[in-house]
Amino acid sequence: MPLNELSRYTHDDVGKRNAIADILYPPVAFKSMRMERMGDMVCDIDFDSCDFEVVEKTKFCPKCGEEFADGELVCFNCMVKLKDIKDVSVRDLEISPEFNVEGTNNFNSFEEILTEENLERVNRFKLTITDYRRIIRNIKQSVLRTLDEAVRKNDINLNSLSIEDKVLLFAKSFVNVDYKSYGGELGYFEFNKIYVDDRQLPALMITTLFHELSHFLLKEIVAQALCHLLDCTKTSLIDSIAVFILSYTPINQLIDEYAAHTVEGRFTLFGYQDYSSFLNIQRTIDLPDEEIEMLKTIGNTFSADIKDILESFIDDELLADIKDIFRRQILDKPDYKNLALENCTLLNSRGMVQAIGFVVCDGFAISMENVETLKEYNAHWEDNNEHQG
Ligand SMILES: [Zn+2]
Ligand SMILES: [Zn+2]
Repeated sequence: MPLNELSRYTHDDVGKRNAIADILYPPVAFKSMRMERMGDMVCDIDFDSCDFEVVEKTKFCPKCGEEFADGELVCFNCMVKLKDIKDVSVRDLEISPEFNVEGTNNFNSFEEILTEENLERVNRFKLTITDYRRIIRNIKQSVLRTLDEAVRKNDINLNSLSIEDKVLLFAKSFVNVDYKSYGGELGYFEFNKIYVDDRQLPALMITTLFHELSHFLLKEIVAQALCHLLDCTKTSLIDSIAVFILSYTPINQLIDEYAAHTVEGRFTLFGYQDYSSFLNIQRTIDLPDEEIEMLKTIGNTFSADIKDILESFIDDELLADIKDIFRRQILDKPDYKNLALENCTLLNSRGMVQAIGFVVCDGFAISMENVETLKEYNAHWEDNNEHQG
């Protein structure tokens, strides 16, 4: 599928354009509004009549999250029994989420998957807009279930978690998260795990989690699209092919990296991310500028869908908190030069489905010539699964 034909399915990404304009031309009202609010707070407190007693709250309502003193039994607003507040370490929590897709075919080896017959099936590309939306919905549903279970099983009171723990808990409902304290990268996604460096500021931990989570989600979308095209059950073999497809060619790498980069910006602020990650890839691609721009448009559209998935968990309040912690901790100036070059175009659903075809069809053909590499990927994958608690 020629890349430039996708341009007739594009439209302006107004949301992203506005978010960038806010950084380039910050609204003057912002600063003074903050001062006013602080002024209000000072006036509201009447220091002379401050003689309230501090009661330790040891219970919480699992429904509304309100906290209660010891001895209380029920939240009468919600009519539910209270639970004990426990110190939950989200960092040590083992959730091990899984995304299941059932199909008629059950392939047991790469040799069974990577056949001429299956290549033909992939190339026929029977993926509709409805199918694509179903994939996005499946992912959301699966994660909501995982998160709900984790919260109930561990008696977690979401309201009492710090912002970074909330984001970490959401991330862990998608994929396993591990920590590293070595190397120069802030984080990376490898096989079925995200690694984040724990020597960074909470604000950067949050952006790193969003970035790596995006890589994971794009892999998941591609894997589920493959399952649909091949009518097969999802296994680590399919996941390995999806990882391979997104990383093997610089073209797919650029789409993947631009999507992750943009998701970061959509949840924190544009202009603060590491532009070098995709600029380095861009330099290795020998394509006309319009086509490079179209690859970014594909990445940008994926990022909008990934944001849509993540927003099932991240409400406006948490989003505002994340941006706030980011503004307070990250004092560098945004990268104005690259900010002005951000891609602000989206594909419509029809274009998006074709773009997935663009990513998957070539990738599947190349996978057929790289079975040994795929076997290595899969061995790592199985390894990671075994080492889980
Ligand atoms: Zn309640
Ligand atoms: Zn990345």
